[in-house]
Amino acid sequence: MAPKARPATFLSARGKRLISEKAERFSESVIRDMTRQAHLYGAINLAQGFPDFPAPAEIKRAAQEAIAADINQYAITWGARSLRHAIAAKMKKWQGLEIDPEAEITVCCGSTEAMIASLLAVTNAGDEIVVFEPFYENYGPDAILSGARPRFVTLHPPSQSDGEWRFDERELRAAFSPQTKAIILNTPNNPTGKVFTRAELEFIRELCMEFDALAVTDEIYEHILYDGAQHFSIATLDGMRDRSITINGMSKTYSVTGWRVGWAVAAPALTNAIRKVHDFLTVGAPAPLQEAGATALSLPDSYYEGLAAAYRARRDRLLPALRQAGFKTFVPSGAYYIMTDIGQFGFADDVSFAQHLVKEIGVASVPGSSFYSRPELGAHQVRFAFCKTDATLDEAARRLLALSRA
Ligand code: GLN
Repeated sequence: MAPKARPATFLSARGKRLISEKAERFSESVIRDMTRQAHLYGAINLAQGFPDFPAPAEIKRAAQEAIAADINQYAITWGARSLRHAIAAKMKKWQGLEIDPEAEITVCCGSTEAMIASLLAVTNAGDEIVVFEPFYENYGPDAILSGARPRFVTLHPPSQSDGEWRFDERELRAAFSPQTKAIILNTPNNPTGKVFTRAELEFIRELCMEFDALAVTDEIYEHILYDGAQHFSIATLDGMRDRSITINGMSKTYSVTGWRVGWAVAAPALTNAIRKVHDFLTVGAPAPLQEAGATALSLPDSYYEGLAAAYRARRDRLLPALRQAGFKTFVPSGAYYIMTDIGQFGFADDVSFAQHLVKEIGVASVPGSSFYSRPELGAHQVRFAFCKTDATLDEAARRLLALSRA
């Protein structure tokens, strides 16, 4: 399951195994490692998905005002009241769901914590979790840490550049069993840019009902959509409201990935369990930033339209540059990544290509293998993030041209 070779077992001088089996079963995040390499080699960082442009001024002001007003101590462990009410209001408006902010929301340190807290809250040893691959790399270690066994289902790449990644219904059905506790969904999807259609979610819904399974759904890119794609929350489908754990956060929608404010929305019994796990993991997310979150979630619709339009422009800036440099690109319908096929460059694998790119060309990307259960599945792919200023994207484009001249 680990994308890189498993590290050697660490023994004390007297032969005791000092590192847990769980910690030994996965390696460091390749995404975060590529950011460190970008710093090391002075490369443009199109690896880790964080914006290099400012967050909206009104949100920053709200955070500054919260600190000035001495909101410096712990918030309620499951989230500041103002933020939970803003989350419920936003879900009512965008998803049409009535969520009880007192009983169905847990604010966490980013959606990353919301995901691991949710999995720890619902899984037992031997439980299975269905995961589409390629997947956001955290889900692998999340499954290991929570003791669950992942069952991977392939998202097949489109044959045309602007086609959609698709799963085979028979393959998905075959991955479900009486042991299935949950399916992890991520729509809009990282790294493929796929936006799951309503019909696909209906099929997944039927399987969740038939196998008595939960849907843990990471919807952090909900507002980053292109070409008329529509985002659906599986929690809105018949029978799924109380079977879904819907995860979201401030990071991507408001360009504040370092603030670490995310949340999990689930029925009261599930939320009780998630809240307990969350409390003992981290106690709470940063209190003043949660207050700013309440301001962020109350922004007018025009903010979200502007966000999607700006990302569309960034996508359409990087896509031709990648093609000109020789990449085969998969055009995303959502989120802010472009998956590419690097077959024509003739490198041994994605890791050696990404190393060449960061060291010699000066652009950091993420090797495709880190998104797959078996490295060979991603050996011809690398991912680029385009949540960057025009200046950053243009400089990356200029550097990438050296590839086509080589
Ligand atoms: N989601 C971002 C990515 O895929 C970064 C997440 C992280 O590093 N915590 O690059």
